[in-house]
Amino acid sequence: MSGEPPQPAPLVRDLAPTRPFIAPEELARRSGRASLIRLGANESAFGPPSEALAAMRAEIERASWYGDPESMELREALAARHGCHVENITVGAGIDDLLGLAVRAYLAPGDVSVATLGSYPTYAYHVTGYGATLATVPYRDDGSIDLEGLAARAHATRARHVYLANPDNPSGSFAPASDVRAFADALPPGALFVLDEAYGDFVPAPELLAEPIDPRIVRMRTFSKAFGLAGARIAYCIADRSVIAAFAKIRLQFGVNRIAQAGALAALGAHAYVADVVREVERGRADYEALGARLGLGTIPSRTNFVCFDLGTRARAEAMVDALLERGVFIRKPGAAPLDRYVRVTVGTESERAAFATSFAEALALAGANPATCP
Ligand SMILES: *Cc1c(COP(=O)(O)O)cnc(C)c1O
Repeated sequence: MSGEPPQPAPLVRDLAPTRPFIAPEELARRSGRASLIRLGANESAFGPPSEALAAMRAEIERASWYGDPESMELREALAARHGCHVENITVGAGIDDLLGLAVRAYLAPGDVSVATLGSYPTYAYHVTGYGATLATVPYRDDGSIDLEGLAARAHATRARHVYLANPDNPSGSFAPASDVRAFADALPPGALFVLDEAYGDFVPAPELLAEPIDPRIVRMRTFSKAFGLAGARIAYCIADRSVIAAFAKIRLQFGVNRIAQAGALAALGAHAYVADVVREVERGRADYEALGARLGLGTIPSRTNFVCFDLGTRARAEAMVDALLERGVFIRKPGAAPLDRYVRVTVGTESERAAFATSFAEALALAGANPATCP
């Protein structure tokens, strides 16, 4: 064959190359280290429950078989947990996968979606990647989400989708159920409310929106955070049957592997372990807040497994991410104003927290001693 090579479809051809995440593996390679202390991706420092490990080890023996494309056993357990029906649940390869489904099923090219500027990047990645338009509203200066602003923007743009992470990433802030309820009721009719509850397991259930299904809301939950299974890639969403039926027309049938299904099912039963993780994460947040106070840095009150420290300026925050990487510690920072002056640090184990505190204090002292890195 000769002539012009095949061209991507116009939508893909015209997309700017983009990578929502630079992984710690790549940062380690670049910095010439075998590994880093991983406090940048909000993974669980405490690992999967032993029950999940045992279930996954056993399931490896059956890796020659496809998983159940309906994830039925897991969906039955999830339906029992949430007091809904299996027809209200889709299991996917992470919330990242489910966000793509929500975008593809409910947005057409040119449609508008509304989200907070600088919120969880995979959502924006999917919206842009499917040719829809993202309209944004900035965070408030205190790190909270401007719910009134989002609702107003949704009306002004006739949005077909509205995205809210609650508790939020990257701020860690949390809107109480009554505010989320009022927000949902203030949205334009016909807009799908994508409620990302990746950190919902760190909040006592009564503080979250009451469980019954709302036809306008799709709620997303993951095994990646409190359950410690980020690398297994498994999550689920809860929604009206009509939403789940729409997703079922386009979802990847075998995208969730059987080892992850077995691990997630076992993890769901590991109540004591997950409760311990949640308590240890609370202790870790308190450690970080105390560390911030000791170092003279403000922190945003967090209901997640990470805390944001206020470095005062974007340049200082960026310099701190680099300085910590030089010391073998991987953290990340919010990209958009007004939160771009913060660094975001995942709660590690007690020893990881101590190592971080030492490196952080050292890097700050150096930055303070060198005004060039401290504009
Ligand atoms: C971590 C995170 C996710 C990713 O979840 P996966 O199930 O691992 O894809 C989604 N949303 C938010 C807000 C997150 O912080």
